[in-house]
Amino acid sequence: MIELIKKYLKSSLIPEFNKEPVFSFPSDERIGLYIHYAFCKHICMFCPYHKIQYDESIVREYTDCVIREFELHNLKSFTSLYIGGGTPSNDKYFLERILPFFKDFIKNEISLEIHPLDATSDNIEFYKSNGINFVSLGVQSFDDEFLRFIGRNHSGLDNEIALENIMNAKFDFVDVDLIFKPEKSFENLKKDFTSAAKYSPEQISVYPLMRFSYTGLGKTKNIPSREKEYFRELDKVASDLGYGRDTLWTYTLKNKTGRFSSVGREFYLGLGMSSSSFSGNVFSTNTFSFEKYREYIFKGKIPVDSVYFFDDYQGALFYSFWALYNRKLEMKNIEKFFPGGYNKILTVMKFLKSLKYLEGSGDRYYVTDKGLEILLELEEWLTYEFIDPLWSRLRASAKKSQLGEISSPTDNEVY
Ligand code: SF4
Repeated sequence: MIELIKKYLKSSLIPEFNKEPVFSFPSDERIGLYIHYAFCKHICMFCPYHKIQYDESIVREYTDCVIREFELHNLKSFTSLYIGGGTPSNDKYFLERILPFFKDFIKNEISLEIHPLDATSDNIEFYKSNGINFVSLGVQSFDDEFLRFIGRNHSGLDNEIALENIMNAKFDFVDVDLIFKPEKSFENLKKDFTSAAKYSPEQISVYPLMRFSYTGLGKTKNIPSREKEYFRELDKVASDLGYGRDTLWTYTLKNKTGRFSSVGREFYLGLGMSSSSFSGNVFSTNTFSFEKYREYIFKGKIPVDSVYFFDDYQGALFYSFWALYNRKLEMKNIEKFFPGGYNKILTVMKFLKSLKYLEGSGDRYYVTDKGLEILLELEEWLTYEFIDPLWSRLRASAKKSQLGEISSPTDNEVY
């Protein structure tokens, strides 16, 4: 059945380019807002996300464009705001404009990704006074050799200092991001997790190193069998340290609720270059080119370069995947938002339950530990079958359209 679904997705999900989507979001109660800050001063070799070299004048123009892009949508209420990048924590000008502007539209948390070198006492005070209450610290590892390998510009000691500063600031929710390389021994991962857990952040996210074709790791491959084995071991280590596996990649302190996640929203509107939006019937991705982005905005057009138009079954599959990534699918939501896909999804869930990947009733399904292993494989398959080719294409077309005033360095060139 899983192979059949993969085949079906490969043959039926084809992105369309140069088409303007019509979003019809289900309800304001369930939409998250994502803003992409697409700039970095230092480019890391492994990073697949869209970013260009920091340039103050371009950031100023970009900031205006993000606000104008928001005004193209008729949406004024969101569950949460997530500011990701790039390195948004490095830019007070951007945050000083963006945060006051959007604050009143956000009902719950305002999240920021923080680079360890930005986690100084002054900056932290600034983030807090501007309404940031959920933060994710991009530690990646405490091992200097591994940090150097992935091209980071900070050390294990910098991470310790940053984490201490962040924890002292008493944000409502702190996440620590870790990456592991399955070619190295499990002991390395265990050491990193234990080092992070020493500070008791609410959440620790753990990702296997991903190898996008256009990064410096493009010629290497994931090792899913070893990754699964490491997660099995890590579940035990984490549990002894007081953390439970909350989603595919995250562990949460057992007495805490809440989650730091850029993909945990049911529906979301993305603003800024390369950001994505999901409205149920549409999954779109904005242009990767700054010139095109600016041009779209000045013409009053939504700056989308690629769109998947979903029928109810396809939309329900997409929605279900991310719900299961968070370990729980409520079937009433499928019935409500994708009525035409309900029966097929129910059949898929019953089948997954028969394989012991899920437990629960016909109303609600939970992912078992065995099911998480299938999700890991599926997540990597989706990354390399869909996201990598799409982003590669959008990156290539952005490069062609650059007018010369900015360059979009590839990780290979920089490292
Ligand atoms: S991983 Fe490195 S290159 Fe990628 S967004 Fe973060 S700081 Fe920039």
